[in-house]
Amino acid sequence: GKNDGKGQYRFFDPALSNTLSSRARLKQHMLEALERDQFMLFYQPRVDARSGELLSMEALIRWRHPELGLVSPGEFIPLAESTGLIVRIGEVVIDKACAQLAAWRAAGVALVPVSINVSPKQFLHGGVVRQLSAALSKYRVPASLIEVEITESAMMGDQDDILAELASLRALGVKLHVDDFGTGYSSLSQLQRLKMDVLKVDRAFTMELGNSKEGKVFFQAIVSMAHALGMSVVAEGVETAEQLAILQGLDCNEVQGYYIARPVPAGEMMGMMRRRFLL
Ligand code: C2E
Ligand code: CA
Ligand code: CA
Ligand code: CA
Repeated sequence: GKNDGKGQYRFFDPALSNTLSSRARLKQHMLEALERDQFMLFYQPRVDARSGELLSMEALIRWRHPELGLVSPGEFIPLAESTGLIVRIGEVVIDKACAQLAAWRAAGVALVPVSINVSPKQFLHGGVVRQLSAALSKYRVPASLIEVEITESAMMGDQDDILAELASLRALGVKLHVDDFGTGYSSLSQLQRLKMDVLKVDRAFTMELGNSKEGKVFFQAIVSMAHALGMSVVAEGVETAEQLAILQGLDCNEVQGYYIARPVPAGEMMGMMRRRFLL
């Protein structure tokens, strides 16, 4: 299995996936995991590309399985989405993120926003707006401390429905981020019409930066168009000093990736909240 570089966390080995082979069994396991509170959040810093200041952290779900160890979302989120279980799992994510912010506040650390990933199924009849406002008041967390990431492809459905849902989220006071930008077919003007605040450019484009001139040109075009439309740009999946240097040259606003920091449990994140990141 993989580890986080420190050997503390054991990740799910795909070779074990036959233990979760059938969809029905995996779904049953997920229901049990909900009952037994086996889902938890890791947090990954997102920092200013120039100053290294911590701006936000992304909440990334992990399934702490009693036999398999930490299971990555790639192993269960797709099935959670297709079975509708993502609505219940998503509510747990919202609750845990808000509870964590309240706990950090109680511990006296300077807070930065947490961004949570929201699947399309959680919109419309999923009640994500209601869940979020309930959690915010339950933990007395201001909406300005929550950001919502929605993938570009999720925004390609019925524009009227999506517009209404996004408007309700914005009315709560949360910032909206376009996740995995560049992998779908939306135009930047469409995203501006949806009043998205931040563009997170997919890791695939960060990987191309050092490889080809075209990679750089493409990224540069995204940054200038996003800026012209009043959106901020985040590069995800920054793994090398070279990529970071190129991104700084391209005027990319924020960076996230293993080169800066890996996703870590809340306890470790708290230590990182007290410092600036060295870029
Ligand atoms: P994402 O939202 O695009 O999240 C970024 C993924 O890239 C995370 O994987 C993160 O750990 C990983 N990553 C961060 N920096 C680097 C890097 O420098 N290099 C590489 N190779 N990877 C990096 P993770 O945590 O396994 O999550 C995978 C996906 O699962 C997420 O992609 C997101 O789509 C989904 N996901 C995670 N948490 C949740 C959640 O709470 N709800 C929903 N609906 N989906 C979630
Ligand atoms: Ca994300
Ligand atoms: Ca992403
Ligand atoms: Ca992704």
